[in-house]
Amino acid sequence: MNMLVDERSARDQVSRRPLIRIVIVGHVDHGKSTLIGRLLHETGSLPDGKLDALKAVSGRRGRDFEWSFLLDALQTERDQGITLDTSQIRFRTAARDVVLIDAPGHAEFLRNMVTGAAQADAAVMIVDVSEGIKEQTRRHGYLLHLLGIRELAVVINKMDRVGFAQSRFRDVETAIVKQLAGFGLTPSEVVPISARHGDGVAQRTVAMSWYGGPTVLEALDRFSPAKPLADLPLRLPVQAAYKFDDRRIIAGRIETGGLDVGDVITVLPRGTTARVQSIEAWPAPEALRAPRAAHAGQSIGLTLDRPIFVERGDLIAAMEAPARAARHLRARVFWLSDAPLAVGAAVNVRVGMAEARGSVVAISDAVDPGLLSPSEADIIAQNHVGEIAIELSQPVAADVHSGNPRTGRLVLDVAGRISGGGLILSIEEDRGTAPERAPAQHAPPAIARFDDGVRSRGEKLAQRAARLEALLASLSPAERLMRFRAEIDGRIVFATSFGLEDQVILYLIAAHAIDIEIATLDTGRLFPETYALWAESERRYGRRIRAIYPQHENLETLAAKHGINGFYDSRQARLACCHARKVEPLNRTLAGAAAWIVGLRADQSSQRESTRLVAVDERALLKLSPLVDWSRDTVSAFAAANQVPLNPLHGKGFVSIGCAPCTRAIAPGEPERAGRWWWEEDGHKECGLHATAERRSAGAAGS
Ligand code: SF4
Repeated sequence: MNMLVDERSARDQVSRRPLIRIVIVGHVDHGKSTLIGRLLHETGSLPDGKLDALKAVSGRRGRDFEWSFLLDALQTERDQGITLDTSQIRFRTAARDVVLIDAPGHAEFLRNMVTGAAQADAAVMIVDVSEGIKEQTRRHGYLLHLLGIRELAVVINKMDRVGFAQSRFRDVETAIVKQLAGFGLTPSEVVPISARHGDGVAQRTVAMSWYGGPTVLEALDRFSPAKPLADLPLRLPVQAAYKFDDRRIIAGRIETGGLDVGDVITVLPRGTTARVQSIEAWPAPEALRAPRAAHAGQSIGLTLDRPIFVERGDLIAAMEAPARAARHLRARVFWLSDAPLAVGAAVNVRVGMAEARGSVVAISDAVDPGLLSPSEADIIAQNHVGEIAIELSQPVAADVHSGNPRTGRLVLDVAGRISGGGLILSIEEDRGTAPERAPAQHAPPAIARFDDGVRSRGEKLAQRAARLEALLASLSPAERLMRFRAEIDGRIVFATSFGLEDQVILYLIAAHAIDIEIATLDTGRLFPETYALWAESERRYGRRIRAIYPQHENLETLAAKHGINGFYDSRQARLACCHARKVEPLNRTLAGAAAWIVGLRADQSSQRESTRLVAVDERALLKLSPLVDWSRDTVSAFAAANQVPLNPLHGKGFVSIGCAPCTRAIAPGEPERAGRWWWEEDGHKECGLHATAERRSAGAAGS
């Protein structure tokens, strides 16, 4: 007896045998439950005495025993907490372990499969020999096609009802093989059975001596088991990166593959590489600390031999077989939300631990799986399935589902609610979406130059900025943001430092669900209050605020040249620090964007008097300052009226929020920006993010 044991202990018992997950599909009355009951019995998988007890109960009620009672009884017991999950029943054949996945209905099955709640490697389709192909049979064939399940056996059931007639079997066999061929499916076997009496399930019987093929159990043993997850290339989605004593520990669960200390890995989507220095496993008994290897299914921490930047959402992959990193994905999705998915919809895309804003750029093959009716419209309605092309705001590392089921799935959410899920069909790398390589040390920042070749583009952009400014000038900040978004093709980035103006802009973007990527420069020197506000803002608005970190190599160079706190010593050193911690990371983030949003106001300082509502910056990007003509009082009043969460430092006299070592409270009567780089002359208080080319190059030269 080996069935209905705790799943973990079952997994432990059988971990060395090939495992195959099978879904049994077919029309509701064609004998699915009977076949499952019979399979459990024939493989000795029923609890001791269960069958006799059920037969006795049936007898007392004056009814003939039916195998389907068995599943009903187990289901009832499960509902009462007596036995375990009947949605995933395990049993053993001669050659392998089998997990039967319940398919309660086509919609549930499809949803479970595409969202990852269930995974089937192969299918058994059951057909009643008397009734032949029914509508539901066709639908299930189509679903298997949609889900890419290619391993399939057909069983023709209830042969006892037709006197085990070979001719009737051949008729149904021919029809179903033809039907499945229309979906691109070829059954490996077509097996005649009587699940009720046992013929053809575990044994051939004289009643069907004309049949020379395998039994159902033999057919199951002929399926190719899915490749064990440990045999696939390494995929370790990063859950967190911790600083622990003097080590930086990267934590996550190995989804596929494995790693050894000393392996060279790549961190995607940036494509940086490092060697595994140590593996930290937890919880682990003392004797097992610091293992030398880890494999699929284990949650581990690891350290690397070089201090490359790794953050939550990155994917650690095998150097020799990396995943792909791209901004364009095609996926087959099952849509759960009552609002249909339409072309142009803004969605949040999650692949493993990674998240990115995305836009649906195409929809095709939308189908109602209940009716098999293709939809002409370019929408996917609730509980329907369809193929979509998504353009992401930033590259995400993933695999196609057929190559790696763990990193080949995505989840779509809208406004923080899971709205769909799907299988990744293709990943399209393009210019600007190829893995970003770590720039060489001392590399100058990538700033577009207005040489002769791009002069005309610069002029066109300047004209465009002027036109946009005329269009937006009379609008409110919210309308400016929405209209700007509508006018610009491509990615727009809002760079926030969590100051008063930035918090108001964040509120407007979230309140109007505007598809603008939000990012912040984590210089490593922010105030604790700023980190707390960051978390609070993400929670309140349900929008991710992406961290942009400096390149470690640049910080090393900076520290070597100017010392850790050299920014106090000279203006050149300060600009160099701002360059390494802010300007270069921002340039990296804005690469490939069409425009960015900032919280500048014209009356903040003498330097900002000439700030335009829409300008073209030196990266040849459009730059929108939606609050340019608001006073600080107006911004404060708006924030108060709309309960915008603000940095508590404002209440302590910190008017402008920046890095902790470079920002102080201002004294009464001092100008707004006096607290930033207070040791520097007024009129020079910009970090290079908004500075002139001359200052920017001074920063680059100093780093
Ligand atoms: Fe460095 Fe200060 Fe600039 Fe922050 S504000 S990057 S600490 S110089």
